Amino acid sequence: MAMIKLDQVSKYYRSEETVSVGMKNISLEFELGEFVAVTGESGSGKSTLLNVISGLDGYEDGELFLFGEETSHYTIADWERYRGTYIGFVFQSYNIIDSYTVYQNVMLALEIQGYDKHERKQRALDLIEQVGLTSHKNHKASKLSGGQKQRAVIARALAKDCPVIVADEPTGNLDSKSAEQIMTLLAGISKNKLVIVVTHDYSQVQPYATRKIKMHDGEVLEDKPIKKADVVKIGEVIKPKRMSFLSLLRFSVRNLLATPKKLLFLMIMQILVVAVFTIVYTNQISNIREIGLEQSSVYPSVPETRVLVEKRDGTAFTISEIEDLESNRRVEAVYTNAMNFYNETQLYVTKSSEFEYGRDNIKGTDSAIALSKRDVEGELPVLINEIVMSANYDFAVGDIVDINVGNAWSWSSGENPDQSIGTFVVSGIDKQDRDIIYFSEKYLEQPSSSEALIDYQKLSELTDRLNYDLLLTFDNQEVWGYKENNYNYTVDVYLDGEGNRNVLNDQTIVFSTFDTNYQRVPLTFTGVSISVPEVIYGGATINPVLHEEIKDSFLSLLESTYTIEPKAYVSLSVSGFYAGNKLLNTLDSDIYKIYYPANISGAMREIQVFFASFLAVILLTLFGMFLYSIVHAVTKNVMNARKKDFAIYRSIGANKATLAQLVVIEQVMMSTVGFIITILLINILSSNIYVLTATIKYMEVKDYFILLGAFMFFGAWLGLRFNKKVFNQSVIETLSQSRGE
Ligand code: ADP
Ligand code: MG
Repeated sequence: MAMIKLDQVSKYYRSEETVSVGMKNISLEFELGEFVAVTGESGSGKSTLLNVISGLDGYEDGELFLFGEETSHYTIADWERYRGTYIGFVFQSYNIIDSYTVYQNVMLALEIQGYDKHERKQRALDLIEQVGLTSHKNHKASKLSGGQKQRAVIARALAKDCPVIVADEPTGNLDSKSAEQIMTLLAGISKNKLVIVVTHDYSQVQPYATRKIKMHDGEVLEDKPIKKADVVKIGEVIKPKRMSFLSLLRFSVRNLLATPKKLLFLMIMQILVVAVFTIVYTNQISNIREIGLEQSSVYPSVPETRVLVEKRDGTAFTISEIEDLESNRRVEAVYTNAMNFYNETQLYVTKSSEFEYGRDNIKGTDSAIALSKRDVEGELPVLINEIVMSANYDFAVGDIVDINVGNAWSWSSGENPDQSIGTFVVSGIDKQDRDIIYFSEKYLEQPSSSEALIDYQKLSELTDRLNYDLLLTFDNQEVWGYKENNYNYTVDVYLDGEGNRNVLNDQTIVFSTFDTNYQRVPLTFTGVSISVPEVIYGGATINPVLHEEIKDSFLSLLESTYTIEPKAYVSLSVSGFYAGNKLLNTLDSDIYKIYYPANISGAMREIQVFFASFLAVILLTLFGMFLYSIVHAVTKNVMNARKKDFAIYRSIGANKATLAQLVVIEQVMMSTVGFIITILLINILSSNIYVLTATIKYMEVKDYFILLGAFMFFGAWLGLRFNKKVFNQSVIETLSQSRGE
């Protein structure tokens, strides 16, 4: 049983109009150990014969037997396996990967074969030496002369230890001296192999040939033995192993870097596509995540960018607790002086230069960290006395304003002066009208501004009491004082046991009142004169000046009861509703009491989220497909230029799976690198570009993975599509096509 047997094999080349005969009715047998010289004039069918024998091209009629087995049922994969295991091919035109060095071209063959890692380097160098290219081993193939290229290709063909070497005019482009070298080389390795050499200079092969076949017009004109061949049975063949992942990775990187301009072009396209898709994606995600979240009416003055945290046990925060909060990735900043945000009091702002004709009630305060530069007309606050105001308050950049703590009551009654926070300069205006004053980091970090504030609620209760009723004690008798009208403060006067009026002049009088906890608070006055009219029916009048004095004394005495001590609060800045809600889940609610305005979900939230997600998936899929079609069209053009390289890969034994892995790794690498660059760019640029700020704000770790996964999938898909196309053609078709181009 011959190793290779052709039985009446014919091959025709069909173009649109003509059919030309490649070879017809060829019946030949080949055995291991033969050294066959094929001759014949140009166009006689020599190359066709070799291509069919080596499975590089198909045939029409007849049957090709391999080890006695029919091949008409062979699939592409079968042919690839056959070629990978048995055939080393040297083409007529030097099919060499121009962007690789000689060494890399030879190495490629060894790595595709899965050659042992420790041996392949030495083997590659040996082969390069055998073909006399040692001095050129690191030269790019594109820089070699024709003869050098052919020698490199021969070294590559010999690289794999296969039983059949097929060479199509291997010395056609070599000077006679190197041609002789090559033939010696082929003869040297021909022992136990089948070597088929096409040549138009038979004399070169004559010393080694065991058989000569002469072709003419696609037919065998002569087939004669020259000398006896040492025919051998096929022994163990080295089955090609899979190309190792590391090799695949190395060649993928090399292939990408081989054409830097194309790489740059594809990369820019990738980056644009990734950026556009990411923005659309996060836009959808942010909608879904914020749907149905409502601002709590309990803390209307706390903006969604701020979370207040108090310890349940009332103790102050330790340094390690603060550090813990700071390291939470939802937290942008921790303010230990939470009182700087004046959570329990209201703020009023007036222009310093103007008569105070009204004041603006500020909803809350926040850190300027919650703002992006794009939110603000003017500048973000930097200095300790700079603030950003909302647009609707009619302030302009550069205005100087006073910020006071107070309430509507204290202003309208004119009774108590506001407590001034200080004088500030408006550095910027918040375009979004959020009714919030944004302080600078410097301001919020200063400990001095967290001093105690007055609780106006309690203060007004006390002042009311002092205004309208007051308890006087003298001679151990309690006497009620009360305000009759706006002007007179009257004290009940009692007669003593003898019917005499109590004498109020120059007596020690103890006034007392109740504090807000209904504890009696006594206050002693001496030398107080209360005028008692001659005729008394019930009361005496305290003069208004004295009344004021008494009231003031009370107020200063009771200061501590209407003062808010700074609580053990910290205030956390977050990027928005979503981050705030996420933070709520990560803080230990057994330890912390958390105030956050946006932790209320509407009843319909789940349903809303479901429908929004559903729509988002459809939209993102359609949009992704649109972007993908663009990437596909562009990549296809770029990849087509590489079809020749892929055909060469195939001709030296890379099978469909190997090539698929190679292109998939390339494409996935492109997508991954493109994705990383894009995300870095977005992060870097986000401080200045509002759209990007919004984008990055909603990117969760899982979003990065989802997007990366999607782009890797796209990359892999592109690679596979391209690979499929490559394998729709035979190697020869691809090569002759790329030669024609
Ligand atoms: P050789 O190698 O002996 O020069 P070939 O095998 O290349 O001969 O060609 C044999 C015949 O087949 C020639 O007539 C040639 O024109 C034709 N032929 C070869 N390749 C193609 C092709 N790709 N398309 C059309 N005709 C071809
Ligand atoms: Mg030819």
